[in-house]
This record gives sequence, C-alpha cells and structure tokens, in this order.
Amino acid sequence: MSEKKDIKRYTVTSALPYANGPKHIGHLAGAYIPADVYVRFLRLLQKNVVFVCGSDEHGTAIPNQALKEGTTSQAIIDKYHAMIRECFQKLGISFDIYHRTSEKIHHETSQEFFLNLYNKGLLTETTSEQYFDVQANVFLADRYIIGTCPRCGNPNAYGDQCERCGSTLSPSELINPRSTLSGNAPVLKATKHWYLPLQDYEPWLREWILNSHKDDWKTNVYGQCKSWIDTGLQPRAMTRDLDWGIKVPLPNAEGKVLYVWFDAPIGYISATRALFKEMSEGKKEYSTPQSDFGKVNEDDWKKYWEDEGTKLVHFVGKDNIVFHCIIFPAMLKAAGHYIFPDNVPANEFMNLEGEKMSTSRGWSIEMHDYIAAFPDKPDILRYALLTNLPETKDSEFTWRDFQSKNNNELVAIFGNFVNRALVLTQKYFDNKVPVRGALRDIDKKVIADVRDFPTKIATAIEGYRFREATALMMDLARTGNKYLAETEPWKLVKPSRNASASEETDIGRVGTILNIALQISANLAVLSEPFLPFSSVKLKDMLSLSDLKWNDTGSVDLLPGGHALGAAHLLFEKIEDPIIEAQIRKLMDTKKESSSPRVSEIKPLKPEITIDDFSKLDIRIGKIVAAEKMEKSNKLLKLTINSGLDTRTILSGIAHHYTAEEMVGKQVTFIANLAPRKMMGMESQGMILSAEDHDGKLKLLAPLGDVEPGSAVN
Ligand SMILES: [Zn+2]
Repeated sequence: MSEKKDIKRYTVTSALPYANGPKHIGHLAGAYIPADVYVRFLRLLQKNVVFVCGSDEHGTAIPNQALKEGTTSQAIIDKYHAMIRECFQKLGISFDIYHRTSEKIHHETSQEFFLNLYNKGLLTETTSEQYFDVQANVFLADRYIIGTCPRCGNPNAYGDQCERCGSTLSPSELINPRSTLSGNAPVLKATKHWYLPLQDYEPWLREWILNSHKDDWKTNVYGQCKSWIDTGLQPRAMTRDLDWGIKVPLPNAEGKVLYVWFDAPIGYISATRALFKEMSEGKKEYSTPQSDFGKVNEDDWKKYWEDEGTKLVHFVGKDNIVFHCIIFPAMLKAAGHYIFPDNVPANEFMNLEGEKMSTSRGWSIEMHDYIAAFPDKPDILRYALLTNLPETKDSEFTWRDFQSKNNNELVAIFGNFVNRALVLTQKYFDNKVPVRGALRDIDKKVIADVRDFPTKIATAIEGYRFREATALMMDLARTGNKYLAETEPWKLVKPSRNASASEETDIGRVGTILNIALQISANLAVLSEPFLPFSSVKLKDMLSLSDLKWNDTGSVDLLPGGHALGAAHLLFEKIEDPIIEAQIRKLMDTKKESSSPRVSEIKPLKPEITIDDFSKLDIRIGKIVAAEKMEKSNKLLKLTINSGLDTRTILSGIAHHYTAEEMVGKQVTFIANLAPRKMMGMESQGMILSAEDHDGKLKLLAPLGDVEPGSAVN
C-alpha cells in the first residue's frame, strides 16, 4: 500500500543531534542537508510543511562528557546545543524549530506518552540483575563495562560490542568485567524496568514495512529492517537507572529515567507542539503560506502527527534506521492515535579521505571548523556534499574533490554562465532585459530543454534522489553555458576592423540570445534555491527577480523585456591550491595530536589494596621456548614457556605487536597462578604482562638483566 494518499501537509524531521560534542560534515550529509533540500522544495511548491529538529540532551554520554570536561551536564548541553544550532543556521538548514529535549514541554510530552502506554497495560515490568558500580554508586550502561572478549581475547571489549573482532556482546559475556568509571569489578544487582514487548508488534511491522513499503523504501533501509524483523524482536527496556534524564512518572520509580531512545524521537512531537505554541502566541510566523488554519491554535500540532492527510518523513543516518523504522513506530502504534512515517530515506556513511569519519579520533571536519575556515561559503559545502551523498552506499569527502566541485562546476559552469549573461546585458543593453526577436532552431531547442527541468528535478527530489536532483540543477546551468558558447553573442557585437556585410553586427540577435540566457538564469535562481539557498538569493538580487515559485519555472517569460537588472557580482570564486593544502595539513595534524596520550585516557586509580592482596599474585619471569600463531585468530599467539616450574602454554593477544619468531628466546613477566582459561578451544595457563604505548602498541614487560626462569617478582 505505497500509493500516494491525498497529502494535505508534511511533517519532516531530521535526527536529533546528540549534544555531547560538535557535529561533523558526515552528519550534515546524512540527515540535515537532504532534509533541507526536500523542505525548501516543498515550500517552493507552496506545500504546507513543518520541519522540526532539536538537540537530544539525555542519555549516559552527557554526564560522562561533563566528567571529562570537568563541568556539569547542564553546561555540556547548553554549550553544544548553542554550537550545533548556530552551525545549522549558518549552513542554511531551515528548521521551523530547533528545539531541546531538556525543555519542560518535552519532559511533559514524553511522560504523557509513557503513562499512556503504562495505563493501557502495554509495558511489562521486569526485574533483572544488572551490573552496578559500588564505588560510583550507579548501574552501568553497556558502554561503561569493559572486559575480555570471549571470542577474540581482546582485553578491552565493551559490554555491547568488541571493537576488535566486531562481535555483538552483552555485559554478562565479558571475562573479568570492570567498570570504566572506577576500574572496579562491577557487582550484579537487581533492578526493575519497564519494557516495550517489541515482539508483540512483529506481525504489524511485517505487514507495514515488509509488505507495504517493499517498493518505496530505499533498499538499504528495507534490508536493515527485514534483517531485524527476521532475527526476531525482543522486549526492550524503556527506562534506565540514571539521574540525568526524564523521570519515570510513576510513584515507585525513584532514580529511574526514560531510556534516551524512548524520549528522543518523542522530541519530534514535542518540538512540533512547541512550534505551534509559539505560533499561537504570535512569537513565530508560519514558514509556508498554505497553512490549514486562519489563526494558529496551540493544538494544531496534532494534525501534523495524527491526521492521515499528513505525510511524515524522517531523515536519518544509517545508524538510526532501527530506531526510526522499528522502535519508534512500535511506540506510535502502541500509543494508538499517531500516523507512521511514510518514508525514512536514511543515508549510509560519508568517509573522509579514505577513512571513517570520527570526531574522537580527530579524523573529521567539524561544522564549526568549516564555517570558521570558509565563512562566506556555506553553499560550496552544501554542493560538495550533495553531489556526493552516501545515498545507496558509503561515499567519500576529499578536499580535492571539494575544490574541484567549486572550481570546475560552480565557478566554471554556473557562475560563468550567469556572469556572462549579466555582464553582456550591462554592456550592450544598459542593464535592462533585451526584447526577444525571431527564434532560430538553436533557441527553440534550448527553450524546450528548459521547460523539462522543473519536473525532472522535482521527480528526483520526491524520490529522495538528491544527488541526481543536484546534478540536474547543474545541468540546467550547463545547458545555458553551452547555449552561450554556441551562439557566441560577444562576437556578434564586436566591431571588426574591416566590416563586411557578412560580419555585420546584429544587436537584435544579441538581444534575443541574452534574453534567453537571462531567462535561464532566472530559472536557475529559483530552481537552485533548495541546493544553494545563499547563492539563489544573490542571483535573485542581481536579476531583481520577484518572489517566484517552483511552478513558475520552466518558462522563458520570467523576466519581461525592459526589466531593469541589479548589479552583477561574482557568484562563486575559485579556491586556490594553498587553501586546500592548508586544510589537508590541518586534518593530518589534528589526527597526529589526537593519537598522542591525553590525560583523559589514563585509566583512573583502582581502589587501594593491602600487601596481602598483592601477595596473592604469583608473578614470575619465564622464558619463551616456542611460539606460533593461532590458526583461527589473527590476534593470539600460542606461547610455550619455561616457567621454571613447568613448561606451559599461554595464549596472548599480542600477534599484532610481535611475530612468533621474535618471541622465541625472550624473557617475559607472567602471572603464574591465574586460573586456566579456555580461548579458541585451547587452555591458557597464565597471563603475560605488557603495557600499552600511546599508539596502542603493546610492549612486553621483562627484567632489565637476565634472571633464571621461575624467579618470582616481588
Ligand atoms: Zn572480540
């Protein structure tokens, strides 16, 4: 059932950025620029649309970031909310509201939502044992528990995932789990939570996604949903033990908050609610003229979330697909009176110069850094990202490509075309639009081409193919540029030294050509608005163009003959090599810096122990007599050790740092009385000690001089 319903209005959302740090251009390409193009296009079609977003300000990572920066959670969200909002604004992302999940109206909306499900008996209350850090006095989120991976022996696997072998884990699977907060071993403690039984919604999800949206959802989105549903859905806790977040609105729920992934998507609803409240109070105007209402009422937000005539579209990155396609829709279904997303056109990831973008590793271009380096060039970034969107598979941003998109397309095609049309008109027609005379075939051909562009671009945008839409917009400029190159109006007015009859200047013909070129420019000014909003405004000014809409375009009668034009300026400027080289150098330097040791990476001191505790450890020096690589593991070496007491086998995760050959004959320090452990089907009888350097390389510990195997370390 993917047929188009009678659409009365649109609700468009972009994923709420998590306010624990700056956001990079990969985020921008994933969920913000495509959404903005879509919304600006709808507004040009004079559709009734609200575009909502805001900061996601809950979850465990916020207090954790506060700890890291030595400040409060409130200070963290205030800082990053302001920073991210300002970046979006400077890059032209035209939200109707950029809200915050810390706002009162959001807390109320989320609690109402929760209570509605609770009162209907749709949440199950379950007590389970979860890891608790006694010293820090908190239950530990999966990310805050590390331990040895049962699959590959990585000693620093997280409670939800091992980053070395990629296995999905649960904290109970970790060997020797410890808290990242205190370094202590956590204890299991009973705790009560409220679960949404996702499995109950599986038949409905199958019907709604797998049958109804087989043809209109992107294959990457559909495929991920199918794999989730086919794997089998499990009950999911909608609450957490934490003191930062939205309080669970029940009397017996001290110390419990709503799960951040429960309240964050409700943020779209509360943002819409806040928008209509502000509009009803006259604090904000409707961004589209076609509202349903004469006077805006506070409750009108409901139409955008409850009325079947509303088309709801969520723009997200691929890491958010499951939340927007499975969990949030199941919540909406449970609530009972909401509409469901018509589409979730999620993008894949954008890499940077060949590697995955990551703020923490310093391998990214943060939005605020781009704005600082290129303050007057938001459209260049929009264009470079749009022409390279990871729509069907991961894509890549490079500074060289950015430069080339600017110099070879925006400057050489779009800018060059518009500039020639304007400058020649200024020169020969007193800056007034010349009248069009008799048309030749080449003119008729270009006029026919122009007529098709609005529909072609619209079809691409409506199908969420923004790369194609952007390329088509540039094709219109290319069409104009080619037309001028072929008709060469500048040659027709050039008085030749010995003018013969055939070389006569023909000012009338020049007028016709420039009239057509200016009409194409006017079409470009309107049709480029979703992609290049800042340049579109400049171009409209140069053309003294009135407020035209999408449906006015495709015509070559946008500018009447005699219409006075504004002053011509260059729309785009060439970006020279040194500017780009400086950016590349900066990226390399940041990466180098971030891989050097930082105080925050030094693990906190473990709790004090007694000499008796220490004496329990039997640490000895041994000599490696044989070493080989474990067959099915690229991390483990199988070491045969003369321990002085016996010859034993120890498996050690050092294969990335030492070869089997170089290990033979080495003295090592090892724990001799550690209970044997099985790894990869083989028993390991002890643990070799090593230290990690700032590049993450393991260095073995050994005595400075030769000692006998079996010597105890005291
Ligand atoms: Zn692993």
